[in-house]
Amino acid sequence: MPWDPLTEEQQELRELVRTLARERIAPRAAEIDESHEFPWDVVELYREHGLFGLLFEQEHGGTGTGTLLALVAIEEVSKVCATSGLILTVQGLGSLGLKLGGSSEQQARYLPRCASGESLAAYALTEAGSGSDSAAMRTTARRDGDSYVLDGSKRFITNAGVASLYTVFAKTDPEAGHAGISAFLVEADTPGFEVARLEPKMGISGSTTGELVFDGCRVPAENRLGEEGTGFRLAMRILDRSRPGVAAQALGIAQGATDYALEYARSRETMGKPIAEHQLIAAKLADMETMCEAARGLLYRYGRMVDEGADERELTKASAMAKLLCGDVAMQVTTEAVQILGGYGYIKEYPVERFMRDAKITQIYEGTQEVQRLVIAREMLKETRAFLLAGVG
Ligand SMILES: Cc1cc2nc3c(=O)[nH]c(=O)nc-3n(C[C@H](O)[C@H](O)[C@H](O)COP(=O)(O)OP(=O)(O)OC[C@H]3O[C@@H](n4cnc5c(N)ncnc54)[C@H](O)[C@@H]3O)c2cc1C
Repeated sequence: MPWDPLTEEQQELRELVRTLARERIAPRAAEIDESHEFPWDVVELYREHGLFGLLFEQEHGGTGTGTLLALVAIEEVSKVCATSGLILTVQGLGSLGLKLGGSSEQQARYLPRCASGESLAAYALTEAGSGSDSAAMRTTARRDGDSYVLDGSKRFITNAGVASLYTVFAKTDPEAGHAGISAFLVEADTPGFEVARLEPKMGISGSTTGELVFDGCRVPAENRLGEEGTGFRLAMRILDRSRPGVAAQALGIAQGATDYALEYARSRETMGKPIAEHQLIAAKLADMETMCEAARGLLYRYGRMVDEGADERELTKASAMAKLLCGDVAMQVTTEAVQILGGYGYIKEYPVERFMRDAKITQIYEGTQEVQRLVIAREMLKETRAFLLAGVG
C-alpha cells in the first residue's frame, strides 16, 4: 500500500468525497463556469451526503472528524471544480465567528443549521475603501435600546444573496480604531439589509461575490458576537483558521491541473513521441508535482496542528504559510498546465484555462499574498533564535 498521511477512517471519507467529486461535480464544472450561476445542485449534494458536517463538531451536528479531513475534502472537490470547493470553504469561514466567539445559546441556535447545510453562511469584513487595511472600515453599529442599528456597506462578499446568515463587522466606537470594532450576526431577511449587486469575475464564476448594504438595519443586541470592541481580534482569529480552507482550494486546483496535464502529455505526440517524453515537458511535470506535494505538506501540517491541539498563537504563522505557498503553487502550476497543452490549453474545450483563472483569486482573498508575507515576518520577529546570534562572532 502506498504511504498515506491519513488514517484509515480519513482515507475512507476522502474516497467518498473523491467519488462524489469525480462522478457528480466534475461533469458540471464547465457548465457552472460558463453559466455564472450559483450551483444549488452541488449544495443539495453536500446536504444529502452530510459534507457540510465535515466542518463542524459533533455537539453542533457535525461529524467531528477534524480540520485535516475538512481540508482534504475541500482539496478533493477543488481538483474538479473550484467554485464547488469554495462553497465548503466559505461555510467554514462564515460560521467560524460563532464557533470562536459565539455564546452557547448563539451556537445552539445557528451552528446545527450550518452543519446540515440548511443555512449557508458568509463573512463580511471588506469594504470598498478597506480590504487589506480592514480596520479602516466605515460601517457603523449604533446601540439603540435592545438592538444595534447598522449603516454602511460591504464589498466583495462571497455567498452574497445565497447565504442566510452573515457575520458582519462594524464600528461601535468609530473613534477607537481596532478597539472600536464589533461583530454581529445578521440574518438575510433583516429589514434594512440588502444585496445591492453581484460582481462579474475572472474565475470562480459560480460563486456569488456581492455588495451588502445596511440602511438602518436593526439587529437584536443578542446577535452581537462577544463583547463590544472585540470584533477586530475575532476577525483576525477567524482568518487564521479559515485561510487554510483557501489553501486547500488552491492545492486542489493545482493538483487537478497537474493530473490533467500529465494525462494530456502522455497521449499528445509531437516529433514522433508523446510530449511527456520530451525532457522540457517532463521537467515541467516533475516541478508541478513536487510543488503540489510541498504545498500539501504545509497544509496537512496545519490540519494536524489544529487536530492535535496546538496553541492558537502557533496557528497564525502556519496558516499564513500554507495559504501563501498553496496560492503561489496554484498560479504557477496552472500556468504551466496551460503551456503543456499548447493551443489547446488556451481554449475552453479543455479545463486548464479555467483552472488558471480560478487559481488567481487564491492569491488575493482572505488576505493577499503580500499580507501573508507581512503576517509570517511579524510572527518570525516575535520568535527567539538566540542560537543563531550565539554562533556569530
Ligand atoms: C472574489 C472575491 C471574493 C471575496 N470574498 C470576500 C468575503 O467573503 N469576505 C470579505 O470580507 N472579503 C472578501 N473579499 C475581499 C478580499 O479579501 C480583498 O479584496 C483582499 O483582502 C484585498 O483587499 P483590496 O481588494 O481592498 O486590496 P488592497 O488592500 O487595496 O490592496 C491592493 C494591493 O496592495 C497590496 N497591499 C495592501 N496593503 C499592503 C501592505 N501593507 N504592504 C504591502 N502590500 C500591500 C495588496 O497585497 C494588493 O496587492 C473577496 C474578494 C474577491 C475578489
